[in-house]
Amino acid sequence: MELNAIEKFAPFCLSCLGRAFGKVGFGLDNRERGIEIINQLEIKEGSELQERLISQESNCTLCEGLISEIPNFRDLVLESFSDFSISSFKIGTIVDKDILKREVEFQLLFGEGLGEALKSQLNREIGISVYKKAKIDALMDNPDAVAIIDTGYDVVNLEIKSLFIEGNYNKYDRTVPQTRWPCHSCKGIGCDKCNNTGQLYPDSVQSLIARHFTIASSCSEDLFHGMGREDIDAAMLGRGRPFVLELRMPKNRSLDLLEIEKKLNTENEGRIKASKLKFVKRPRVAELKNTVCDKTYRVDVSISDKISIESLKKGAQRLTSTVIEQRTPTRVSHRRADLVRPRLVNSVDVISFTDGMAELVIRAQHGTYIRELVSGDDGRTVPSLTSLIDAKCKVEVLDVLNLHLQAKEEKND
Ligand SMILES: [Zn+2]
Ligand SMILES: [Zn+2]
Repeated sequence: MELNAIEKFAPFCLSCLGRAFGKVGFGLDNRERGIEIINQLEIKEGSELQERLISQESNCTLCEGLISEIPNFRDLVLESFSDFSISSFKIGTIVDKDILKREVEFQLLFGEGLGEALKSQLNREIGISVYKKAKIDALMDNPDAVAIIDTGYDVVNLEIKSLFIEGNYNKYDRTVPQTRWPCHSCKGIGCDKCNNTGQLYPDSVQSLIARHFTIASSCSEDLFHGMGREDIDAAMLGRGRPFVLELRMPKNRSLDLLEIEKKLNTENEGRIKASKLKFVKRPRVAELKNTVCDKTYRVDVSISDKISIESLKKGAQRLTSTVIEQRTPTRVSHRRADLVRPRLVNSVDVISFTDGMAELVIRAQHGTYIRELVSGDDGRTVPSLTSLIDAKCKVEVLDVLNLHLQAKEEKND
């Protein structure tokens, strides 16, 4: 290698020199590699040439002093961690493009593929330094915290892994939606129409469940991922509906789920209930969103024409094990494509029938519109209870009794 060529990049620190062979030889750090290279080039300690080539880390023209700033970066990272209880972390760095370009040119003088990148040394040595001071584990795969240091501005951008809590919810209050529903007029900012709450409804299953989690974790935001949803005016009974609550940027990660479950169920008795709470990982959200299953509903149906219980039962019987054709109901056509969907109705059972009000239990394939199965939706659903008993039927109350998720659970129905 040409000393002249190397000299053009001088002065540089021992780390930056050693890094040119960063991928060669084990058990040496880059400073030690730098000394090794100096020896191999037979540059004498204290010689004028050495003075010209090697500088203090803070005066290095290759890393522009970044290596000397490692303790400073460590402190910035520790400061950014101070509000959060975390048990693992990863470091990333943003380094000026010109520095990186110069480094590549310099390292090419020593041969291709031998050098380690400056970022990689920074990440490693800052990581070790943080570990030593704070005794938090450095973890490449899925750590609690990722600290990205912008080395040009001494700024740390901290990403904290969300917490994911899965559970089942029941809803007994037929006035609360599943998730927060921003006010149409102000889009959540708060206005006269929504009493400055920003919400169309004062409560939601989400807000009632999330409240205690938000307090316990001091998170910045919560997201509610349900396995489907029921209408606002429908209750969710039985074993409940699975959901995952996501807590973003939580300051505290160790939550007593049983304690929180107790608190929120006591507070919301008769309105909603959460059960089977457990910590899960992010992929569970997509899994939940992609799960479909049969459902059983309990409905109160008003029947306007006079009919006998026998003909009602006969009509219900004829719907059992029947594939119906449902064209997208008018009430949802603004958000769903206008299609005819075949849906299997597993069973329709008449529980009671008095004074023109029938109570039915209906089990049907996922995606069946139960209100339209009953009413016929002006001929868009064929057949329907209305068409089969030749009397106008309308769902007055609709509750979800159960989601049939697993064969194992079905035995307990
Ligand atoms: Zn340097
Ligand atoms: Zn508003």
